[in-house]
Amino acid sequence: MFDKYIYINYNRNMQSYKFRLQPNKEQREKLDNMFGCSRFTWNYFLDLNNKIYLEAKEKDLKKKHLNYYDCANKLTGLKKENEWLKEANSQALQQTLKDLDTAYNRFFQKKSGFPKFKSKKNNQSFRVPQFFELKGNHSCFPKFKKGIKTIIHREVLGNVKYATISKTKTDKYFVSITTDFEEKKKRISNNSAGLDLGIKDLVVVSDGQKYSLKINEGNIKFLHKQISKKKKGSKNRKKAILKLAKRYEKFGNVKQDFQHKLSDKLCKENKLIAIEDLNIKGMLKNHCLAKSISNQSWYWLIKKIEYKSKRYGGEVVKTKRFYPSSKTCNHCGYINQDLELKDREWECPKCKTILDRDINASKNILAQVLRELNLKGEGSTRLKPAELSSIDEAVKQEAFGSLVQR
Ligand SMILES: [Zn+2]
Repeated sequence: MFDKYIYINYNRNMQSYKFRLQPNKEQREKLDNMFGCSRFTWNYFLDLNNKIYLEAKEKDLKKKHLNYYDCANKLTGLKKENEWLKEANSQALQQTLKDLDTAYNRFFQKKSGFPKFKSKKNNQSFRVPQFFELKGNHSCFPKFKKGIKTIIHREVLGNVKYATISKTKTDKYFVSITTDFEEKKKRISNNSAGLDLGIKDLVVVSDGQKYSLKINEGNIKFLHKQISKKKKGSKNRKKAILKLAKRYEKFGNVKQDFQHKLSDKLCKENKLIAIEDLNIKGMLKNHCLAKSISNQSWYWLIKKIEYKSKRYGGEVVKTKRFYPSSKTCNHCGYINQDLELKDREWECPKCKTILDRDINASKNILAQVLRELNLKGEGSTRLKPAELSSIDEAVKQEAFGSLVQR
């Protein structure tokens, strides 16, 4: 019964569109009020839930948080105490409660950290789960029946499932529309690829290609310094903060663009994409800030690869268990226990092959996934040896050879 709303799959067979909104002054005030109501509701119930959680932990109680239904019942009472909440789109507030419930469930399932309070200083948003409509170049939804002017730069295909209204730190308003449109694209080849996700290069592919996005962070450090020099609450400080927010926004856009182009290319070129399970990878590498940032980039890149691969009729398969992908020679299977993180290149003591650390790892990831598929007996239906043309001969032998020997 919870599945219906808790685990909305944002990507499967869905298409998203993001458009700039141009609300007039009155609409801006109303939207800001709506963000405020959503934030207030989130924070109010988060606070309440935090107390329940602590008490449950202390007394070892089973019920550790108020679920959506508990909160929705309390919301009615809260509205009586706070008349201004009644001006908000009530479905959007209920959606906020559902999102909070999801956040708690994700925390309990150890999929993410403890839910956080929302601040006015960050990006603002609320979701319109129902009755969103595009009429001409206007976004119409409850409490905004006349519609907010919207810059529609591409055609919206499919039926609208829901929409999210947001506001950036730089005071820009956007609407993200999700529809049920299923786009089928044509794949150009039947290759298979293994991906190694790294710090130095974001992605290294088993065909030897390396991809990374270099962003000049010097400017950001400079802006941070500027802000720290200015007096708190001063106009100049606010100006500097806005400048920094704009810079981050631009970086964010560049990153998004890079991830879209890269995921598109990989999915267009490969029928099967093999990757390591990020949970395993994350466990190994989450004790350093720079690494946790890459971690986030990996997460969003893989999300894109996963849904695009489906669109192209391909699939993404994750390795099931830990595998020493960097330390294993992809030619002979020798495991080099002496390999250190600083060794970018190494010579296999057994077969004397010179190996690039990351390319070797990506080849091993592909081989490992193929091995797992074969053990499950799915290799033959999913992939034929002829489709392995992109991998070198030795990996092919390792992948299929191991089965033959058994
Ligand atoms: Zn070797």
